[in-house]
Amino acid sequence: MLNDMFLMLGFCVLIGGCFGSFANMLIYRLCSEQSLMSARSICPHCQSKLRLRDLIPIVSFLCLRGCCGSCKKPILKRYLLVELLTPILFFFFLYPSSFMTFNSHYLIFGYIILILFFTDLESYLLPLPLTSALVVLGIVVSFLDGILFSRLMVSLLIAMALLSFRYIFNRIYKQDTFGLGDIILLVAIALNFGWQICVSSFYCAVILGGCYSLVLILLKKRSRKDMIPFGPFIIIGILCSFKFLEIAVPFLLFT
Ligand SMILES: [Zn+2]
Repeated sequence: MLNDMFLMLGFCVLIGGCFGSFANMLIYRLCSEQSLMSARSICPHCQSKLRLRDLIPIVSFLCLRGCCGSCKKPILKRYLLVELLTPILFFFFLYPSSFMTFNSHYLIFGYIILILFFTDLESYLLPLPLTSALVVLGIVVSFLDGILFSRLMVSLLIAMALLSFRYIFNRIYKQDTFGLGDIILLVAIALNFGWQICVSSFYCAVILGGCYSLVLILLKKRSRKDMIPFGPFIIIGILCSFKFLEIAVPFLLFT
């Protein structure tokens, strides 16, 4: 049993690490508006092409002590974080009796929101190709479940409500209160999981984002007019909506 567990963990680190490395490449290129088709990844500081030994997930970061192998300038800790979080996602996918055992819908959704979390955090961007992929995923899953029409109707209502909400708040505050990317993300949540999860994610995001802004204003790190990325709070809201603790507890007990 324990051997199986270690085997599964090793497999998750191997496969998840590779997908994490790919996610990091996407985050960097989407944030810096580079082509996704570029041949080789480069160091953003010295522009030197990354060698094979710089690209081994988790291991390269640790061996190079979080610095570029050529110019020795620090690499963002996000690279290691994403390469660790992706194997955890794969672990939940493979772990028996987990909430997402062999549920490829959750795996794909989780992988894309992991990338979106960091693009928004770093560059205030929820790239359209990724949010659109979530919308398409939601349409496919709803179609397979035979509830496409009702999900589409509900999502349309949510989109209209959010667009009106955005228009009113933009007029009141005379600036962009939240982006269209946030609205597409929320519509994608409704298409994938229904209006209840969408509304509760939005509710959590407003509360968490509001508290975070308030703390920053009190600490005088930001003014009232400064923007904060809303996408990460929506994504945390999704996890809260699925009662994340209930998901994490079996994992903690098992290990
Ligand atoms: Zn460098």
